[in-house]
Amino acid sequence: MVVYLVGAGPGDPELITLKAINALKKAEVVLYDKLANEEILEYAENAKLVYVGKQAGQHYKTQDEINKLLVKEAKDNNIVVRLKGGDPFVFGRGGEEMLALKKEGIKFELIPGVTSAIGAPTTIGLPVTHRGIATSLTLVTGHEDPTKKEKQVKWDFKADTIVILMGISNLAENIAEIMKYKDPSTPVCVIENGTMENQRIITGTLENITEKNIKPPALVVIGHVVDVFKEINQIDE
Ligand code: SAH
Repeated sequence: MVVYLVGAGPGDPELITLKAINALKKAEVVLYDKLANEEILEYAENAKLVYVGKQAGQHYKTQDEINKLLVKEAKDNNIVVRLKGGDPFVFGRGGEEMLALKKEGIKFELIPGVTSAIGAPTTIGLPVTHRGIATSLTLVTGHEDPTKKEKQVKWDFKADTIVILMGISNLAENIAEIMKYKDPSTPVCVIENGTMENQRIITGTLENITEKNIKPPALVVIGHVVDVFKEINQIDE
């Protein structure tokens, strides 16, 4: 028995790796989250498909329940794929699942994916680092677990570029925090549905980005690297 922890990429079904496709092809069971594009499940031609993501208005599985199910499926089958959007280890809780498997002595293999945090900006010509402009990058969640006693994110980042995932519902609050440390005129680019047909790109500054109509799934890129994107795409603002 083996479990493959697999990244599905950011949305465009062609941005999945060959290694991921090969694992899906031989899978007997696939446990998957909400994926931007379910087309890639077609590679899993012989597998039982089990959805373990969120479902509107219904109880969705806790991480503990998912871990237990993963362990059970691994004990009942030879080849299990656990498929997640982007990269499993970038805000994907892949680490927790890996530890749960290790605890049970179940063999696992890790197949990274193109994370939306980098793949979505890259696809539109927005480099997250750029010589002379940005030598460092912070990747942060905009939505910390509300049950945590104390917030871990302080927003006083020194990095030249900040990419926020899960950041739309708390955007105004978090941007207000960032403006305590960064110039309000710092450029911002929001990518909705990155790498997909319905992709939308919204640009602005820290000061005005929250006035724009932004809908999830989206990520937020903050920093002067956004000027490079504007230059490439001839956007004047
Ligand atoms: N493991 C995933 C991230 C999971 S957290 C990865 O590596 O990409 C979910 C967050 O990712 C969303 O709230 C959103 O901020 C971001 N996201 C995922 N796919 C996206 C896409 N196609 N376009 C824009 N943001 C995306």
